[in-house]
Amino acid sequence: MTYDHDIAVIGGGPAGSLAARTLARKGLSTLLIERAAMPRRKVCGGALSEHAMGYLDFPVPDSLIDWQCHGARVHYNNRTLTARLPERIAVLTTRSRFDHFLVTKAEEAGAETVHDEVKSIEQTESGVTIGLKSGRNVTARRCIIAAGANSRFIKAVRRRDTADEEGICIEAEVPVMTPDPFADLEGLIDIYFGGAAYGYGWVFHHGDYYSIGVGGVRSKFADPMRAMRGFCAEIGLTGWEESARAHPIPRGGIDRTISAGNLFLAGDSAGFVDPFYGEGLAYAIRSGQLAAEAAALSLDPAADAHTHYRESTEAEFAENLKYSLIFSKLMYSMPKLFLTTMTASESALRQYLYVPLNALSYREYLFWLLPRAPFIAAKALLSR
Ligand SMILES: Cc1cc2nc3c(=O)[nH]c(=O)nc-3n(C[C@H](O)[C@H](O)[C@H](O)COP(=O)(O)OP(=O)(O)OC[C@H]3O[C@@H](n4cnc5c(N)ncnc54)[C@H](O)[C@@H]3O)c2cc1C
Repeated sequence: MTYDHDIAVIGGGPAGSLAARTLARKGLSTLLIERAAMPRRKVCGGALSEHAMGYLDFPVPDSLIDWQCHGARVHYNNRTLTARLPERIAVLTTRSRFDHFLVTKAEEAGAETVHDEVKSIEQTESGVTIGLKSGRNVTARRCIIAAGANSRFIKAVRRRDTADEEGICIEAEVPVMTPDPFADLEGLIDIYFGGAAYGYGWVFHHGDYYSIGVGGVRSKFADPMRAMRGFCAEIGLTGWEESARAHPIPRGGIDRTISAGNLFLAGDSAGFVDPFYGEGLAYAIRSGQLAAEAAALSLDPAADAHTHYRESTEAEFAENLKYSLIFSKLMYSMPKLFLTTMTASESALRQYLYVPLNALSYREYLFWLLPRAPFIAAKALLSR
């Protein structure tokens, strides 16, 4: 049987674009299928960590950097705390422009892109047939599904996340107000604990607009829109309703099937997101690259590419996603102890900032925090 392409990649987000770029650089015939006309809006805060940028084999152009981040300001229970590092921990980027740039990096490497929507995927013995909205069918020997958290095609490989394993976020993009009530955020991301169930609210200042939102675990977050209204009232922001969009976010850790037959999942489709902070870009980029390696390997009939993909993602992400999940459960089930600690102790907050920098793992942070938290929280609560 002859195929139109070696590998088809569904979804032109960070996972799909990095998968397509990796495959094309190997000389494989690669088709990247994206349903939206780029640049398209993506519901996201746009915090791109140093951890995430470290996986790219090219620099992020200055023109895509809205804001440089060196630290965080956190709020909980009428307490506000700021911590900074000398190093940059992240940049804020606008996803529509960043994702468009990543698609061009896939094209530059030799991937073909098509603007169309995948309507069906049929696995055959040695490949896949993909039905497109335009009525066209394309065939490929393997397929990488990088179509985000909402995609119905995920179920061809794994079960749907439960309400405990999935978060729900509402995000809005609001032009900067005059005078700017967040002008003092210089170089900081702004995080508000306490309002969202098992999650937080945020203000990310992109220079000419704010990305604001709330996110929490779906099983415990009965009315996200109400939480968003309460959050915006708390921070004194109006005019957000029109641009507000809801979107799911995986937050179940790493225990999922991520490939089967001729299909490989990457990014949010595979469920790779930090359950505490909600960082998905680093995992999308890296899992796109690893899925590409595995899909390419699977073209060799002697190779066990599924085991290779599982082991390579476990080696890179398992510990961090597992401990982030534990950390998240501890923080939100015992907020008085842990959220008070994070918002009362500059050293506890500063130490956490090394996580998005990828200089400290969640496990290392947790082992640093656990013996200190009772003393820090008790001192903070008693001094009120
Ligand atoms: C509110 C919110 C805020 C967030 N903030 C941050 C943050 O600040 N920092 C961070 O690191 N992470 C953040 N995340 C997580 C991050 O956005 C995701 O982890 C990341 O976008 C995953 O990338 P992806 O490529 O897997 O999927 P996506 O970015 O979702 O891309 C999937 C692509 O597939 C396309 N597609 C879907 N179905 C089809 C189809 N049938 N045919 C063709 N194309 C299709 C879509 O149009 C889309 O372009 C946030 C998430 C949410 C919901």
